[in-house]
Amino acid sequence: MPYEPVLLARINKPNSGKLEGYRADGGYETIARVLKDKQPLDVTTQVKDAGLRGRGGAGFPTGLKWTFLPKDHPGPVYLCVNADESEPCTYNNRILMEKDPHQVLEGIMLACYAIKSPKAFYYVRYEYGDSYRSLAAAVEELYAAGFLGKGIFGSSFDLDIVLHRGAGAYICGEETGLIESLEGKRAWPRIKPPFPAIEGAFRKPTIVNNVETLACVTQIMKRGKEWFQSLGVPPDPKNPRDAGSYGPKLYTLAGHVEKSVCVEVPMGITIRDLVEKHGGGVWKGRKAKAVNPGGLSMGFVDVNAPLKGEDGKTEYDIPLDFNGPGRVQCLGLGTAAVTVIDDQTSMVDVLHNVCQFFSHESCGQCTPCREGTGWMLKITDRLRRGLGRKEDLDILVDVADRIGIMPGTTICGLSDGAGWPVKTAIRKFRAEFEAAIKSGAKSKYAKSLTMAGAH
Ligand code: NAD
Ligand code: SF4
Repeated sequence: MPYEPVLLARINKPNSGKLEGYRADGGYETIARVLKDKQPLDVTTQVKDAGLRGRGGAGFPTGLKWTFLPKDHPGPVYLCVNADESEPCTYNNRILMEKDPHQVLEGIMLACYAIKSPKAFYYVRYEYGDSYRSLAAAVEELYAAGFLGKGIFGSSFDLDIVLHRGAGAYICGEETGLIESLEGKRAWPRIKPPFPAIEGAFRKPTIVNNVETLACVTQIMKRGKEWFQSLGVPPDPKNPRDAGSYGPKLYTLAGHVEKSVCVEVPMGITIRDLVEKHGGGVWKGRKAKAVNPGGLSMGFVDVNAPLKGEDGKTEYDIPLDFNGPGRVQCLGLGTAAVTVIDDQTSMVDVLHNVCQFFSHESCGQCTPCREGTGWMLKITDRLRRGLGRKEDLDILVDVADRIGIMPGTTICGLSDGAGWPVKTAIRKFRAEFEAAIKSGAKSKYAKSLTMAGAH
Protein backbone atom coordinates (compact mmCIF):
# COMPACT_ATOMS: atom_id res chain seq x y z
CA MET A 1 0.00 0.00 0.00
CA PRO A 2 1.47 3.38 -0.91
CA TYR A 3 1.96 5.67 2.06
CA GLU A 4 -0.74 8.35 2.47
CA PRO A 5 0.81 11.64 3.67
CA VAL A 6 -0.47 13.03 6.96
CA LEU A 7 1.67 16.10 7.62
CA LEU A 8 1.34 17.21 4.00
CA ALA A 9 -2.20 15.87 3.52
CA ARG A 10 -3.78 19.30 3.23
CA ILE A 11 -1.19 21.32 1.33
CA ASN A 12 -2.80 21.08 -2.11
CA LYS A 13 -6.31 21.90 -0.96
CA PRO A 14 -7.69 25.26 -2.02
CA ASN A 15 -7.29 27.75 0.81
CA SER A 16 -5.33 25.18 2.84
CA GLY A 17 -4.03 27.97 5.08
CA LYS A 18 -7.44 29.27 6.12
CA LEU A 19 -9.00 28.60 9.52
CA GLU A 20 -12.34 27.63 7.98
CA GLY A 21 -10.73 24.94 5.81
CA TYR A 22 -8.63 23.61 8.68
CA ARG A 23 -11.68 23.35 10.93
CA ALA A 24 -13.67 21.63 8.19
CA ASP A 25 -10.96 18.94 8.25
CA GLY A 26 -11.27 18.48 12.02
CA GLY A 27 -8.68 21.08 12.92
CA TYR A 28 -8.52 22.34 16.53
CA GLU A 29 -10.79 19.50 17.70
CA THR A 30 -7.72 17.84 19.26
CA ILE A 31 -6.64 20.84 21.34
CA ALA A 32 -10.27 21.45 22.42
CA ARG A 33 -10.56 17.80 23.54
CA VAL A 34 -7.17 17.81 25.26
CA LEU A 35 -7.94 21.00 27.19
CA LYS A 36 -11.20 19.44 28.36
CA ASP A 37 -10.10 15.90 29.20
CA LYS A 38 -6.35 15.81 29.77
CA GLN A 39 -3.76 17.20 32.14
CA PRO A 40 -0.58 18.86 30.79
CA LEU A 41 1.49 15.88 31.91
CA ASP A 42 -0.72 13.54 29.82
CA VAL A 43 0.37 15.43 26.69
CA THR A 44 4.06 15.20 27.61
CA THR A 45 3.68 11.50 28.35
CA GLN A 46 1.94 10.76 25.05
CA VAL A 47 4.59 12.63 23.04
CA LYS A 48 7.39 10.97 25.02
CA ASP A 49 5.89 7.49 24.67
CA ALA A 50 5.40 8.01 20.92
CA GLY A 51 9.17 8.37 20.65
CA LEU A 52 9.05 11.71 18.77
CA ARG A 53 12.55 13.02 18.15
CA GLY A 54 13.12 16.66 17.13
CA ARG A 55 13.01 17.30 13.39
CA GLY A 56 15.26 20.39 13.45
CA GLY A 57 18.45 18.40 13.01
CA ALA A 58 19.69 17.04 16.32
CA GLY A 59 16.96 14.40 16.83
CA PHE A 60 16.69 15.07 20.58
CA PRO A 61 13.63 13.35 22.17
CA THR A 62 10.92 16.03 22.32
CA GLY A 63 8.93 14.84 25.35
CA LEU A 64 12.14 14.34 27.32
CA LYS A 65 13.22 17.91 26.53
CA TRP A 66 9.92 19.18 27.93
CA THR A 67 10.59 17.37 31.22
CA PHE A 68 13.84 19.33 31.71
CA LEU A 69 11.90 22.45 32.72
CA PRO A 70 12.38 23.18 36.43
CA LYS A 71 9.46 21.82 38.44
CA ASP A 72 9.47 24.57 41.08
CA HIS A 73 9.92 27.63 38.82
CA PRO A 74 7.53 30.51 39.61
CA GLY A 75 7.18 31.14 35.86
CA PRO A 76 6.53 32.13 33.27
CA VAL A 77 8.13 29.54 31.00
CA TYR A 78 8.13 30.06 27.25
CA LEU A 79 7.99 28.13 23.99
CA CYS A 80 10.16 29.35 21.13
CA VAL A 81 9.31 27.98 17.71
CA ASN A 82 12.47 27.70 15.65
CA ALA A 83 11.42 28.58 12.11
CA ASP A 84 14.79 30.01 11.19
CA GLU A 85 15.20 27.27 8.62
CA SER A 86 18.56 28.09 7.04
CA GLU A 87 20.41 24.83 6.50
CA PRO A 88 21.07 24.87 2.73
CA CYS A 89 18.52 22.93 0.65
CA THR A 90 16.14 22.57 3.61
CA TYR A 91 12.60 23.80 3.00
CA ASN A 92 10.24 21.38 4.76
CA ASN A 93 9.24 23.90 7.42
CA ARG A 94 8.58 26.56 4.79
CA ILE A 95 6.05 24.27 3.07
CA LEU A 96 4.22 23.66 6.34
CA MET A 97 4.15 27.34 7.26
CA GLU A 98 3.00 28.54 3.86
CA LYS A 99 0.49 25.80 3.10
CA ASP A 100 -0.84 24.51 6.42
CA PRO A 101 0.01 27.03 9.16
CA HIS A 102 -2.85 25.94 11.41
CA GLN A 103 -1.51 22.39 11.78
CA VAL A 104 1.65 23.86 13.32
CA LEU A 105 -0.29 26.43 15.38
CA GLU A 106 -2.37 23.61 16.90
CA GLY A 107 0.90 21.85 17.77
CA ILE A 108 2.07 25.05 19.46
CA MET A 109 -1.12 25.15 21.54
CA LEU A 110 -0.65 21.52 22.58
CA ALA A 111 3.04 22.01 23.44
CA CYS A 112 2.31 25.20 25.41
CA TYR A 113 -0.40 23.40 27.38
CA ALA A 114 2.02 20.54 28.09
CA ILE A 115 4.76 22.83 29.39
CA LYS A 116 2.30 25.33 30.94
CA SER A 117 3.54 28.23 28.88
CA PRO A 118 1.29 31.27 28.43
CA LYS A 119 3.29 32.60 25.49
CA ALA A 120 4.93 31.22 22.36
CA PHE A 121 7.45 33.20 20.34
CA TYR A 122 7.40 32.12 16.69
CA TYR A 123 10.76 33.10 15.18
CA VAL A 124 10.52 33.03 11.37
CA ARG A 125 13.54 33.22 9.08
CA TYR A 126 13.82 36.73 7.62
CA GLU A 127 13.92 35.50 4.02
CA TYR A 128 10.64 33.59 4.46
CA GLY A 129 8.29 36.47 3.64
CA ASP A 130 5.46 34.23 2.38
CA SER A 131 5.67 32.05 5.50
CA TYR A 132 5.53 35.10 7.71
CA ARG A 133 2.50 36.52 5.89
CA SER A 134 0.68 33.18 5.94
CA LEU A 135 1.35 32.79 9.69
CA ALA A 136 0.39 36.37 10.46
CA ALA A 137 -2.96 35.88 8.70
CA ALA A 138 -3.53 32.58 10.54
CA VAL A 139 -2.71 34.05 13.95
CA GLU A 140 -5.01 36.99 13.26
CA GLU A 141 -7.83 34.57 12.38
CA LEU A 142 -7.26 32.73 15.66
CA TYR A 143 -7.50 35.89 17.76
CA ALA A 144 -10.59 36.99 15.84
CA ALA A 145 -12.23 33.61 16.52
CA GLY A 146 -11.30 33.78 20.23
CA PHE A 147 -8.98 30.74 19.90
CA LEU A 148 -6.00 32.68 21.28
CA GLY A 149 -5.84 34.99 24.26
CA LYS A 150 -7.72 34.43 27.52
CA GLY A 151 -9.27 31.03 28.31
CA ILE A 152 -8.82 29.35 24.93
CA PHE A 153 -11.52 26.89 23.78
CA GLY A 154 -13.56 27.54 26.90
CA SER A 155 -10.79 26.36 29.22
CA SER A 156 -8.89 28.25 31.92
CA PHE A 157 -5.72 28.13 29.79
CA ASP A 158 -4.48 31.49 28.41
CA LEU A 159 -2.17 31.59 25.39
CA ASP A 160 -0.63 34.28 23.22
CA ILE A 161 1.47 33.68 20.11
CA VAL A 162 3.96 36.36 19.13
CA LEU A 163 5.41 36.31 15.62
CA HIS A 164 8.96 37.53 15.22
CA ARG A 165 10.71 38.09 11.90
CA GLY A 166 14.29 36.76 11.89
CA ALA A 167 17.50 38.66 11.31
CA GLY A 168 18.82 37.10 8.09
CA ALA A 169 21.73 34.97 9.31
CA TYR A 170 22.25 31.19 9.58
CA ILE A 171 23.35 31.52 13.20
CA CYS A 172 19.89 32.88 14.17
CA GLY A 173 18.72 29.25 13.89
CA GLU A 174 21.07 28.07 16.64
CA GLU A 175 18.65 28.00 19.57
CA THR A 176 20.53 30.38 21.87
CA GLY A 177 21.45 32.66 18.94
CA LEU A 178 17.73 32.73 18.16
CA ILE A 179 16.94 33.68 21.75
CA GLU A 180 19.53 36.48 21.74
CA SER A 181 18.10 37.77 18.45
CA LEU A 182 14.55 37.57 19.83
CA GLU A 183 15.70 39.67 22.77
CA GLY A 184 16.87 42.32 20.31
CA LYS A 185 20.56 41.54 20.41
CA ARG A 186 23.10 40.22 17.94
CA ALA A 187 22.52 36.44 17.44
CA TRP A 188 25.62 35.29 19.28
CA PRO A 189 25.08 31.78 20.68
CA ARG A 190 25.33 31.42 24.46
CA ILE A 191 27.59 29.05 26.35
CA LYS A 192 25.67 25.93 27.52
CA PRO A 193 24.89 24.86 30.17
CA PRO A 194 22.58 26.36 31.17
CA PHE A 195 20.44 24.96 28.34
CA PRO A 196 17.38 27.04 27.39
CA ALA A 197 15.13 24.63 29.31
CA ILE A 198 16.72 26.05 32.47
CA GLU A 199 17.46 29.61 31.32
CA GLY A 200 16.26 30.75 27.90
CA ALA A 201 14.28 33.68 26.49
CA PHE A 202 14.31 36.71 28.77
CA ARG A 203 16.23 34.47 31.26
CA LYS A 204 13.14 32.30 31.76
CA PRO A 205 13.01 28.53 31.22
CA THR A 206 12.31 28.03 27.51
CA ILE A 207 11.63 25.11 25.23
CA VAL A 208 12.82 25.54 21.65
CA ASN A 209 11.03 23.28 19.16
CA ASN A 210 11.15 23.04 15.40
CA VAL A 211 8.11 23.58 13.12
CA GLU A 212 7.84 20.02 11.75
CA THR A 213 8.24 18.67 15.29
CA LEU A 214 5.20 20.68 16.37
CA ALA A 215 3.18 19.45 13.38
CA CYS A 216 4.05 15.91 14.56
CA VAL A 217 2.78 16.82 18.07
CA THR A 218 -0.61 17.72 16.54
CA GLN A 219 -0.78 14.37 14.75
CA ILE A 220 0.41 12.32 17.74
CA MET A 221 -2.25 13.89 19.96
CA LYS A 222 -4.88 13.36 17.25
CA ARG A 223 -3.97 9.84 16.11
CA GLY A 224 -2.19 8.33 19.12
CA LYS A 225 1.28 7.08 19.84
CA GLU A 226 0.53 3.68 18.26
CA TRP A 227 -0.05 5.36 14.88
CA PHE A 228 3.28 7.21 15.19
CA GLN A 229 5.16 4.04 16.16
CA SER A 230 3.60 2.09 13.31
CA LEU A 231 5.78 4.19 10.99
CA GLY A 232 9.54 4.45 10.71
CA VAL A 233 12.32 2.42 12.30
CA PRO A 234 12.24 0.91 15.82
CA PRO A 235 15.30 1.15 18.12
CA ASP A 236 18.27 -1.02 17.25
CA PRO A 237 18.12 -3.95 19.74
CA LYS A 238 21.94 -4.10 19.72
CA ASN A 239 22.16 -0.51 20.89
CA PRO A 240 20.46 0.14 24.26
CA ARG A 241 20.95 3.92 23.81
CA ASP A 242 19.10 4.07 20.48
CA ALA A 243 15.70 5.77 20.73
CA GLY A 244 14.60 4.64 17.24
CA SER A 245 13.44 6.77 14.32
CA TYR A 246 9.67 6.62 14.51
CA GLY A 247 7.04 8.47 12.53
CA PRO A 248 6.62 10.21 9.21
CA LYS A 249 9.34 12.55 7.94
CA LEU A 250 9.50 15.38 5.45
CA TYR A 251 12.51 15.01 3.15
CA THR A 252 13.56 17.77 0.77
CA LEU A 253 15.37 17.00 -2.47
CA ALA A 254 17.69 19.49 -4.13
CA GLY A 255 20.74 19.73 -6.36
CA HIS A 256 21.09 17.65 -9.52
CA VAL A 257 17.73 15.87 -9.47
CA GLU A 258 14.98 16.06 -12.05
CA LYS A 259 12.46 17.24 -9.45
CA SER A 260 13.29 19.28 -6.37
CA VAL A 261 10.43 18.24 -4.11
CA CYS A 262 9.46 17.96 -0.47
CA VAL A 263 8.04 14.50 0.20
CA GLU A 264 6.53 12.86 3.25
CA VAL A 265 7.33 9.20 3.80
CA PRO A 266 7.94 7.04 6.87
CA MET A 267 11.43 7.48 8.33
CA GLY A 268 14.04 5.14 6.91
CA ILE A 269 13.70 5.51 3.13
CA THR A 270 17.05 5.01 1.36
CA ILE A 271 18.76 7.82 -0.54
CA ARG A 272 18.45 5.75 -3.73
CA ASP A 273 14.68 5.32 -3.37
CA LEU A 274 14.18 8.96 -2.49
CA VAL A 275 16.10 10.19 -5.54
CA GLU A 276 14.78 7.63 -8.00
CA LYS A 277 11.17 7.22 -6.87
CA HIS A 278 10.44 10.77 -5.74
CA GLY A 279 13.02 13.01 -7.40
CA GLY A 280 12.69 11.55 -10.89
CA GLY A 281 16.34 10.42 -10.79
CA VAL A 282 19.54 12.37 -11.38
CA TRP A 283 19.04 15.19 -13.87
CA LYS A 284 19.94 15.10 -17.56
CA GLY A 285 20.30 11.31 -17.45
CA ARG A 286 23.57 11.63 -15.53
CA LYS A 287 24.76 9.57 -12.57
CA ALA A 288 25.11 10.69 -8.99
CA LYS A 289 28.58 11.03 -7.50
CA ALA A 290 28.00 12.44 -4.01
CA VAL A 291 25.05 13.27 -1.78
CA ASN A 292 24.59 15.42 1.30
CA PRO A 293 22.14 13.31 3.31
CA GLY A 294 20.80 16.03 5.59
CA GLY A 295 22.13 19.50 4.92
CA LEU A 296 25.71 20.57 4.26
CA SER A 297 26.89 20.11 7.83
CA MET A 298 26.25 16.36 7.73
CA GLY A 299 29.08 15.71 5.22
CA PHE A 300 29.11 13.71 2.00
CA VAL A 301 28.02 10.23 1.00
CA ASP A 302 30.03 8.60 -1.81
CA VAL A 303 27.31 6.89 -3.84
CA ASN A 304 29.80 4.46 -5.41
CA ALA A 305 31.51 3.32 -2.21
CA PRO A 306 30.53 -0.20 -1.14
CA LEU A 307 28.46 -0.42 2.03
CA LYS A 308 30.38 -2.51 4.56
CA GLY A 309 28.81 -5.90 5.25
CA GLU A 310 26.06 -5.50 2.63
CA ASP A 311 26.81 -7.23 -0.65
CA GLY A 312 26.03 -5.26 -3.79
CA LYS A 313 24.95 -2.16 -1.84
CA THR A 314 26.67 1.19 -1.73
CA GLU A 315 26.47 4.28 0.46
CA TYR A 316 23.60 5.31 -1.83
CA ASP A 317 21.54 2.60 -0.08
CA ILE A 318 21.82 3.91 3.46
CA PRO A 319 18.48 4.49 5.18
CA LEU A 320 17.69 8.10 6.00
CA ASP A 321 16.88 7.56 9.66
CA PHE A 322 18.70 8.92 12.70
CA ASN A 323 21.33 6.15 12.48
CA GLY A 324 21.83 5.66 8.72
CA PRO A 325 24.19 8.53 7.77
CA GLY A 326 26.41 7.78 10.80
CA ARG A 327 27.14 4.33 9.29
CA VAL A 328 29.01 6.04 6.44
CA GLN A 329 31.00 8.55 8.52
CA CYS A 330 28.48 11.38 8.14
CA LEU A 331 27.41 13.44 11.15
CA GLY A 332 23.76 12.34 11.13
CA LEU A 333 20.35 12.77 9.52
CA GLY A 334 20.39 16.51 10.17
CA THR A 335 17.51 18.28 8.46
CA ALA A 336 16.87 15.43 5.97
CA ALA A 337 17.65 17.80 3.10
CA VAL A 338 19.10 15.53 0.44
CA THR A 339 21.34 17.31 -2.08
CA VAL A 340 22.54 15.33 -5.08
CA ILE A 341 25.81 16.12 -6.88
CA ASP A 342 26.18 14.63 -10.35
CA ASP A 343 29.24 12.92 -11.82
CA GLN A 344 30.15 15.91 -14.00
CA THR A 345 30.57 18.27 -11.09
CA SER A 346 33.94 18.97 -9.53
CA MET A 347 34.17 18.15 -5.83
CA VAL A 348 36.77 20.93 -5.57
CA ASP A 349 34.12 23.44 -6.62
CA VAL A 350 31.51 21.87 -4.36
CA LEU A 351 33.79 21.98 -1.34
CA HIS A 352 34.85 25.55 -2.01
CA ASN A 353 31.20 26.56 -2.16
CA VAL A 354 30.51 24.80 1.15
CA CYS A 355 33.53 26.45 2.83
CA GLN A 356 32.43 29.83 1.57
CA PHE A 357 29.06 29.30 3.24
CA PHE A 358 30.43 28.34 6.66
CA SER A 359 33.13 31.00 6.70
CA HIS A 360 30.53 33.64 5.86
CA GLU A 361 28.07 32.36 8.50
CA SER A 362 30.48 31.85 11.42
CA CYS A 363 29.53 34.46 14.01
CA GLY A 364 33.20 34.90 14.90
CA GLN A 365 32.99 34.51 18.68
CA CYS A 366 35.21 31.42 18.91
CA THR A 367 38.73 31.40 17.49
CA PRO A 368 38.73 27.80 16.15
CA CYS A 369 35.52 28.43 14.22
CA ARG A 370 36.28 31.93 12.98
CA GLU A 371 39.86 31.13 11.94
CA GLY A 372 39.30 27.50 10.91
CA THR A 373 36.42 28.22 8.55
CA GLY A 374 38.45 31.10 7.09
CA TRP A 375 41.49 28.91 6.48
CA MET A 376 39.44 26.13 4.92
CA LEU A 377 37.99 28.70 2.53
CA LYS A 378 41.45 30.07 1.65
CA ILE A 379 42.84 26.61 0.93
CA THR A 380 39.87 25.43 -1.15
CA ASP A 381 40.01 28.71 -3.06
CA ARG A 382 43.68 28.00 -3.83
CA LEU A 383 42.73 24.50 -5.04
CA ARG A 384 40.08 25.77 -7.43
CA ARG A 385 42.49 28.29 -8.92
CA GLY A 386 44.86 25.47 -9.84
CA LEU A 387 47.44 26.53 -7.23
CA GLY A 388 46.89 23.67 -4.78
CA ARG A 389 49.82 21.93 -3.06
CA LYS A 390 50.04 18.25 -2.19
CA GLU A 391 50.04 18.97 1.54
CA ASP A 392 46.86 21.07 1.31
CA LEU A 393 44.59 18.02 1.60
CA ASP A 394 46.08 16.87 4.89
CA ILE A 395 46.04 20.41 6.22
CA LEU A 396 42.33 20.71 5.35
CA VAL A 397 41.47 17.47 7.17
CA ASP A 398 43.59 18.52 10.13
CA VAL A 399 41.87 21.91 10.42
CA ALA A 400 38.43 20.30 9.98
CA ASP A 401 39.24 17.79 12.74
CA ARG A 402 40.59 20.39 15.13
CA ILE A 403 37.67 22.81 14.87
CA GLY A 404 35.12 20.10 15.45
CA ILE A 405 36.14 17.24 17.64
CA MET A 406 37.15 18.86 20.90
CA PRO A 407 34.07 19.52 23.02
CA GLY A 408 34.23 22.81 24.85
CA THR A 409 36.46 24.62 22.37
CA THR A 410 33.58 26.33 20.59
CA ILE A 411 30.26 27.66 21.81
CA CYS A 412 27.93 26.07 19.28
CA GLY A 413 27.79 23.29 16.70
CA LEU A 414 28.46 25.41 13.59
CA SER A 415 32.16 24.74 13.81
CA ASP A 416 31.70 20.97 14.01
CA GLY A 417 29.21 21.14 11.14
CA ALA A 418 31.70 23.10 9.02
CA GLY A 419 34.28 20.36 9.49
CA TRP A 420 32.23 17.33 8.38
CA PRO A 421 31.85 18.21 4.68
CA VAL A 422 35.58 18.90 4.48
CA LYS A 423 36.63 15.67 6.20
CA THR A 424 34.23 13.48 4.27
CA ALA A 425 34.91 15.12 0.89
CA ILE A 426 38.69 14.73 1.18
CA ARG A 427 38.55 11.24 2.69
CA LYS A 428 36.02 9.90 0.20
CA PHE A 429 37.08 11.77 -2.98
CA ARG A 430 40.81 12.15 -2.34
CA ALA A 431 41.83 10.85 -5.77
CA GLU A 432 39.78 13.57 -7.45
CA PHE A 433 41.36 16.28 -5.30
CA GLU A 434 44.87 14.88 -5.96
CA ALA A 435 44.23 14.79 -9.70
CA ALA A 436 43.07 18.41 -9.60
CA ILE A 437 46.24 19.45 -7.78
CA LYS A 438 48.43 17.47 -10.20
CA SER A 439 46.82 18.92 -13.31
CA GLY A 440 46.89 22.46 -11.93
CA ALA A 441 43.73 23.15 -13.91
CA LYS A 442 41.77 26.21 -12.91
CA SER A 443 38.06 25.73 -12.22
CA LYS A 444 35.79 27.42 -14.71
CA TYR A 445 34.09 29.08 -11.75
CA ALA A 446 37.35 30.59 -10.45
CA LYS A 447 37.34 33.48 -12.89
CA SER A 448 38.41 36.16 -10.49
CA LEU A 449 40.26 36.24 -7.23
CA THR A 450 37.88 36.13 -4.30
CA MET A 451 38.70 37.94 -1.10
CA ALA A 452 40.15 34.71 0.25
CA GLY A 453 42.10 34.14 -2.93
CA ALA A 454 43.96 37.39 -2.53
CA HIS A 455 46.35 35.76 -0.04
P1 NAD B 1 22.08 19.71 20.46
O1 NAD B 1 22.25 18.24 20.33
O2 NAD B 1 23.10 20.49 21.21
O3 NAD B 1 20.69 20.03 21.18
C1 NAD B 1 19.47 19.52 20.74
C2 NAD B 1 18.37 20.01 21.65
O4 NAD B 1 18.37 19.31 22.88
C3 NAD B 1 18.46 21.48 22.05
O5 NAD B 1 17.18 22.03 22.12
C4 NAD B 1 19.09 21.46 23.43
O6 NAD B 1 18.73 22.57 24.22
C5 NAD B 1 18.52 20.18 23.99
N1 NAD B 1 19.44 19.57 24.95
C6 NAD B 1 20.51 18.80 24.66
N2 NAD B 1 21.12 18.39 25.80
C7 NAD B 1 20.41 18.93 26.83
C8 NAD B 1 20.55 18.88 28.25
N3 NAD B 1 21.51 18.18 28.83
N4 NAD B 1 19.65 19.56 28.99
C9 NAD B 1 18.65 20.27 28.40
N5 NAD B 1 18.47 20.34 27.05
C10 NAD B 1 19.35 19.69 26.29
O7 NAD B 1 21.95 20.26 18.97
P2 NAD B 1 21.74 21.73 18.40
O8 NAD B 1 23.03 22.46 18.39
O9 NAD B 1 20.56 22.36 19.06
O10 NAD B 1 21.34 21.39 16.89
C11 NAD B 1 22.29 20.87 16.01
C12 NAD B 1 21.60 20.44 14.75
O11 NAD B 1 20.92 21.54 14.18
C13 NAD B 1 22.54 19.94 13.67
O12 NAD B 1 22.61 18.56 13.73
C14 NAD B 1 21.91 20.44 12.38
O13 NAD B 1 21.37 19.38 11.64
C15 NAD B 1 20.75 21.27 12.83
N6 NAD B 1 20.62 22.50 12.05
C16 NAD B 1 19.40 22.74 11.50
C17 NAD B 1 19.18 23.85 10.72
C18 NAD B 1 17.83 24.07 10.10
O14 NAD B 1 17.72 24.91 9.20
N7 NAD B 1 16.79 23.37 10.52
C19 NAD B 1 20.20 24.77 10.53
C20 NAD B 1 21.44 24.51 11.11
C21 NAD B 1 21.65 23.36 11.87
FE1 SF4 C 1 29.98 31.53 16.54
FE2 SF4 C 1 31.29 29.50 15.38
FE3 SF4 C 1 31.51 29.93 17.99
FE4 SF4 C 1 29.22 29.02 16.96
S1 SF4 C 1 31.19 27.94 16.99
S2 SF4 C 1 29.45 30.61 18.51
S3 SF4 C 1 29.19 30.14 15.00
S4 SF4 C 1 32.20 31.32 16.34
